[in-house]
Amino acid sequence: MAIKTNLPDLTPASQRFKQEIILPSGGFSNPIAFPGGKFIVYPWDMATSEWMVTAPRTNELTYMVQLVSRLSHLSTEVVKTMVSSELPLIVMVARALTFPDSKVEYVATCPYCRTNQAKVALQIPNALQKISEKPAGYTCDTVTLPVSKDVITVKPATVTEQEAARNRPEKFQKVLGNAEASALAAVRTVGGGVPDTQDELVKWYRALSPTDSEFLVTEIAKLNPGVSTSIKHVCDNQACQREFTYELNLTTDFFRG
Ligand SMILES: [Zn+2]
Repeated sequence: MAIKTNLPDLTPASQRFKQEIILPSGGFSNPIAFPGGKFIVYPWDMATSEWMVTAPRTNELTYMVQLVSRLSHLSTEVVKTMVSSELPLIVMVARALTFPDSKVEYVATCPYCRTNQAKVALQIPNALQKISEKPAGYTCDTVTLPVSKDVITVKPATVTEQEAARNRPEKFQKVLGNAEASALAAVRTVGGGVPDTQDELVKWYRALSPTDSEFLVTEIAKLNPGVSTSIKHVCDNQACQREFTYELNLTTDFFRG
């Protein structure tokens, strides 16, 4: 070999710097691929940065699946068996492996007095809280609606289930928003009974009181394993000092930076 290097050996850096993490879902959606929630993340590379510039972005979820597939060296078929809410974490970890000092900066505005707060710089993902981690042997969560007292079992939806919910028939698109369709993809039983059809589930959902339907969608969002992008603030303005939550926008645009 003509090259004279100080490297001890020529193992690819992607192998040396890869990191094993435990998925917040515990891997319940595919225990064979992710035993005990174990998942290997490879560092962000320049080829991925280049790919991001040209990749078609017609569908945000498909785009995220392809990105996670690149960063995990897993096929898109396997990535689609993951719980969709934990895909952003993989991207954040991969970026942190390559850019350990990278931070996201933002200026929040108090919703009450409109005062701009001091600039915040957060290290991603370490500064973000993991939410709704699932225990070993997890099967489902239970939600009781406040008005009807209907008892619902909920299991966070996989990418495949989310895709089906978002590509719903036109008749459902007219009556359900994306957030509602995504939430319903996680509903497994109502009062102990499995819905016979999607029609039946949607009919039930639309009959719920506004209090119950709002509660259901909000609770399901909280049960999705991943990292929290809601950051609590107390207003800097001494005359205000009210508490508010800032929503960090971690869409794929963030990861392009
Ligand atoms: Zn304020």
